[in-house]
Amino acid sequence: MSTTTKPRIHYDCTKCPAFCCSIYERVVVTQRDVKRLARHFELTHEEAERRFTKRNGDERILRRQKDPLLGQTCRFLDLETRGCTIYHARPQICREYPGRTRCGYYDILQFERATQEDDSVLPLIQLRFLKPKRDS
Ligand code: SF4
Ligand code: SF4
Repeated sequence: MSTTTKPRIHYDCTKCPAFCCSIYERVVVTQRDVKRLARHFELTHEEAERRFTKRNGDERILRRQKDPLLGQTCRFLDLETRGCTIYHARPQICREYPGRTRCGYYDILQFERATQEDDSVLPLIQLRFLKPKRDS
């Protein structure tokens, strides 16, 4: 008999304002993801692609919306509940994130709430990727 135990998860998405849906400007979707969206909304593949995604160079990403809390976020985030409105049809990349037992953004949230001694404080996190130049 198998005795595999699930690793303990150290974050709780229901207690997070959905940092990951907001601070990443690119949520990349595959053709399979678009197919899932099309089925969910009973649209053609082309219609789902046009309505919900846009081209970004060589890739296709989810469209975004204004977010009073974090500036911008995924178009599928419910701005009131901070939950995903297409949970069962969400892209693969959303299913896999964060891909480990800790979420760095959740850790920051908990860290700042403890440091500020305020359970309601919301640290505003911005993410920028810089590519340092290497000496040749
Ligand atoms: S940032 Fe982390 S804790 Fe928050 S919703 Fe995303 S995965 Fe969950
Ligand atoms: S599809 Fe859902 S889980 Fe993925 S970024 Fe958008 S709101 Fe978040």
